Amino acid sequence: MTAVRPEVAAAAYPNAGADTAPRTIVIIGAGQAGGWAAQTLRSEGFAGRLVLIGDEMHPPHERPPLSKAVLSGAALPETARLMKSEAFEALGLEWRAGAQVRRIDRTVKEVLLTDGEALAYDKLILCTGGRARRLALPGADQVPLHTLRTIEDALALAPLLGPGRSVVVVGGGWIGLEVAATARQQGAEVVVVETQSRLCERTVPAEISEHLLALHRAQGTRVLLGAGVLGFAQAADGRPEVLLADGVALRCDAIVIGIGLVPNDELAREAGLECEGGVVVDAQCRTSDPDILAAGDVAVAPNPWAGRRLRLESWQNAQEQGIAAARSALGHMVDYQPLPWFWSDQYGMNLQIYGIPTAAHRVVRRGDAADGSFVLFYLAGDVVQAAIGPNAARDLRFARRLIEQRKPVDAERLADMGTPMSKI
Ligand SMILES: Cc1cc2nc3c(=O)[nH]c(=O)nc-3n(C[C@H](O)[C@H](O)[C@H](O)COP(=O)(O)OP(=O)(O)OC[C@H]3O[C@@H](n4cnc5c(N)ncnc54)[C@H](O)[C@@H]3O)c2cc1C
Repeated sequence: MTAVRPEVAAAAYPNAGADTAPRTIVIIGAGQAGGWAAQTLRSEGFAGRLVLIGDEMHPPHERPPLSKAVLSGAALPETARLMKSEAFEALGLEWRAGAQVRRIDRTVKEVLLTDGEALAYDKLILCTGGRARRLALPGADQVPLHTLRTIEDALALAPLLGPGRSVVVVGGGWIGLEVAATARQQGAEVVVVETQSRLCERTVPAEISEHLLALHRAQGTRVLLGAGVLGFAQAADGRPEVLLADGVALRCDAIVIGIGLVPNDELAREAGLECEGGVVVDAQCRTSDPDILAAGDVAVAPNPWAGRRLRLESWQNAQEQGIAAARSALGHMVDYQPLPWFWSDQYGMNLQIYGIPTAAHRVVRRGDAADGSFVLFYLAGDVVQAAIGPNAARDLRFARRLIEQRKPVDAERLADMGTPMSKI
């Protein structure tokens, strides 16, 4: 257990409404969403007992650098922290570092830690995120299989990248491609093995998959599409191998599995909360128990931009939903309706996505892939619903405004590079 300093909070927030319920708020998960929820509770005036429980030993931090600057060694893990130590201290919360919640007892409103301690709550916020999906294939227990979710994962993998090393990345999604790019930039030989017929198949349209494929191949990464993995083995020289369905064995120094995330919703499920591929919440981040809220990668929330419930795995959502859940816990009811935004950095290319592009949309292109910078707009009628593009951050900021304003646009002007986005 670390720093129990409620007096700091009382001093920092002297006008806070301490006499109003709730008196104790417990947050499970000290990641990005949990960290933002804690900060927001204080900045919104909550001066009661605030407990932040996290099974990692690190204070709340952001994960995007873990597959980029931290993995390459360009930045220390500490640089990913959500706030400076003094700011974290000043929150005056009970930070239970390295503590795991085993069970939620809703009948008496308590969480039970694995060490046997019980903590009472008035409001509980679940920010338990997710864990890297494992591949239960033959030989998986015979060789080291790396995944990338935590600081420890990045620190374990980093020394295995570099000149003379070879890495096989199983999974051509975001994490897999970012690891591949970082490893390649460190001088390693890299093979990406993807079962689907294109990269990031679940999240981007085919044209963007093509762009990513061309980018990785141009950097010297071997990308195998439609390639089944049968299992793993240890070669005679002791190095690990990935065994492919076509009989090829890829021998390497490190195998990285990047095949997605499993939401940590077990606590919620065991407590009888509604779950559906994550913890189901309403627009105010409330679960099926109004005293329990959820935010971040674990939460499945209604999304008006998609017209359905979504579980978002993004930096933006972890922050904004963490803030929204904290406000909701305090009774400040504002619907959380984020326009989904995601970015990825690979070999100096910055790709951004606003909204949810679908096959039903009409696509309008602005710019040329050959220039390395273009935007694809996704329209329903004359209204832009989503936009995606590499190295086009400025245009995409305008695209975001177009999407949010829901105003009809002239598709010809949108496609015309001679018409500045600011004039559309
Ligand atoms: C390597 C990597 C790179 C990324 N890059 C990008 C990017 O470029 N752009 C982008 O938009 N998004 C990116 N993301 C996604 C983004 O980082 C996540 O969406 C975000 O971290 C989710 O935050 P969270 O707080 O919901 O979950 P987490 O950060 O996973 O935090 C959840 C915490 O809860 C803890 N926990 C779980 N169960 C318990 C329990 N029972 N008791 C105690 N503690 C528990 C977990 O151990 C964890 O510490 C990346 C993610 C990763 C892993």
